Amino acid sequence: MGGVVLGIESTAHTLSFGMVDLDGNVSDSYSNLFRPKEGGIHPREAADHHCSQVSNLLNEVTKSEMFKENDVEAIAFSQGPGLGPCLRVGASVARTLSKSWNIPLIGVNHCIAHIEIGRNQTGCIDPVLLYVSGGNTQVIAKSRDKYRVMGETLDIGIGNMLDKFARNQGLPFPGGPKIEELAIEFTKVADYQNKLIDLPYGVQGMDMGFSGMLTAAQRRVLAGDSLESVSWSLQEHAFASCIEVAERAMAHTGKTELLLGGGVACNSRIRKMAEIMCEERGATAYWPEKKFCIDNGTMIAELGRLLHNVGFKTSLEDSSINPMLRTDHTKVIWD
Ligand code: AMP
Ligand code: MG
Repeated sequence: MGGVVLGIESTAHTLSFGMVDLDGNVSDSYSNLFRPKEGGIHPREAADHHCSQVSNLLNEVTKSEMFKENDVEAIAFSQGPGLGPCLRVGASVARTLSKSWNIPLIGVNHCIAHIEIGRNQTGCIDPVLLYVSGGNTQVIAKSRDKYRVMGETLDIGIGNMLDKFARNQGLPFPGGPKIEELAIEFTKVADYQNKLIDLPYGVQGMDMGFSGMLTAAQRRVLAGDSLESVSWSLQEHAFASCIEVAERAMAHTGKTELLLGGGVACNSRIRKMAEIMCEERGATAYWPEKKFCIDNGTMIAELGRLLHNVGFKTSLEDSSINPMLRTDHTKVIWD
C-alpha cells in the first residue's frame, strides 16, 4: 500500500475533501458549495451547511479507489485565512480524524495552497502568482523563505465584486461565471472593442481596489447601458488592473512565470490577458484546471504533503484557526 495525505478545505462557501499521494499524484475533490438563498455568505449559515455535509462527503471519499488503495499518512486542513465559523468546522473534523486514525495533523495556509496546487499541476517552478478569488486578490512572489504579497486589494476581493454586481442584477451566486457569459455575448456585437464604458480604474501603486468600479458599473446599468456591455467593460477594467500589477511584480522580481489561481482564474478573458502580457515580455502564463482554481480539498492535501515530506506537524495546542492568517506569515520550509 502507498500513502496519501487527506486535505480538508472550509474557509468560506466550499466544504471539500481531496487527496494527494506521496509522489504528488492528485485525486479529484469531493466538494459541496454553500449557495445562500439571498444576500452574501453569512458565516454561521455557511458553517451550518458544512456541518450538514461532512459525513456525506467523508463517505464519498472513503469509498474512492485512491482512499481504499492507500494508507492515510496525515490530515491537512485550512487553518486560515477565512471565515471563523467555517474554518472551525474543517479544523474540528481534522483534529477528530487525526486523533482517531492516529496520524499527524497539519494546519496549512489556504492562499499558499492555491500556489502549490498550481505548481503541482502546471510544472511552473518559481512563479509570480495572481491569486484572484472571492475574498482574496493578491499578487504574490517568493523571496527567500516567504511568499511575499507584492500587491493586493485595498477593499473587496475581485470575485466578491463580480458576485455583488451579479446579485444586484438579480443573478444567482456565484455571479462571476454568469458575468463572463454576458461579456462573451457582448463580444459578438460589431465593433465592440470601441464601445468600452469608462469606469474608475482599479490600480493604486502596487495595490488594487474594486469597489469604485462596482458602484460606477451599477450606475451605468441604471442609466440604461445594456447588462452585456457593462459586464464586458467591468471585466476589462478589473482584469486589466490585476494583470498590470502582476506585470509590474514580474518586472521587479525578474521572474518569468505567471501562475493564475483562485476561482476568478476560471475566466477565459483573464487567462487571455495573462497570456498576452506574458508573451509580450517573453514569459509564460500558467493556470490549473478549473476544478483546482476554485477552492478545493486537493490543494490543501498538496500543501499538507509538502509539509509532511519535511516532517512538519501541527500540535493540538497550535491547531487553532487563524481567520486573519497572511500569505507572508508562513515560512516556506519545503521545496
Ligand atoms: P474561490 O473563492 O477561489 O472558490 O472562487 C470563487 C469566486 O470565483 C466567486 O467569486 C466566483 O464568482 C468566481 N468565479 C468562478 N468562476 C468564474 C468565472 N468564470 N469568471 C469570473 N469569476 C468566476
Ligand atoms: Mg481561495
